[in-house]
Amino acid sequence: MDKERVKKLIRELIIEVGEDPTREGLRDTPERIANMYKEIFSGYDSDSELSVQFSEDSDVVIARNIQFYSMCEHHMLPFFGKIHIAYSPNGRVFGISKLVRLVEKYSKRLQIQERLTKNIADELYSQGVKGVVVFADAEHLCMKMRGVKNDVMLSSSAFRGIYENKEEKESIMTLIRKRSSDPSFSKY
Ligand SMILES: [Zn+2]
Repeated sequence: MDKERVKKLIRELIIEVGEDPTREGLRDTPERIANMYKEIFSGYDSDSELSVQFSEDSDVVIARNIQFYSMCEHHMLPFFGKIHIAYSPNGRVFGISKLVRLVEKYSKRLQIQERLTKNIADELYSQGVKGVVVFADAEHLCMKMRGVKNDVMLSSSAFRGIYENKEEKESIMTLIRKRSSDPSFSKY
């Protein structure tokens, strides 16, 4: 990202919304936004480091409640919530921090929730695991602040590998529901 160009564009935007960019409170806003964008769009340059794995024999690993923040590509407003990942390892498991990194790699971009869910499932599945399930629950400011102004939560899911099979899907869902006190799992 060209920081000086971003600053110039934000300054133009401030003028177009009807404000004075030289006003004290707004003077450093282009600089602040340019710095912030570098952070919230850092997913384009990030590596999930999923190649780092540990030997471990486990049937299924479930990582719940990974908090994420992303930016809706239609409105450039935040959408955010929780991602839950389950996978069936092939003799090796990933560190939990790598799963968090994986979520950040795909959330810190211009995104839509459905693709975010698929991107995470695809990259995890490409590491040779037997199967992957990814769920996301999120609220979207573009729905709350504008348009229909509704508090609806969006849920999305992606199933890969053995979990594409109907019976395997049923059994992993039963397991996740059983191990979770969160009633929201019942909707998947
Ligand atoms: Zn939107």
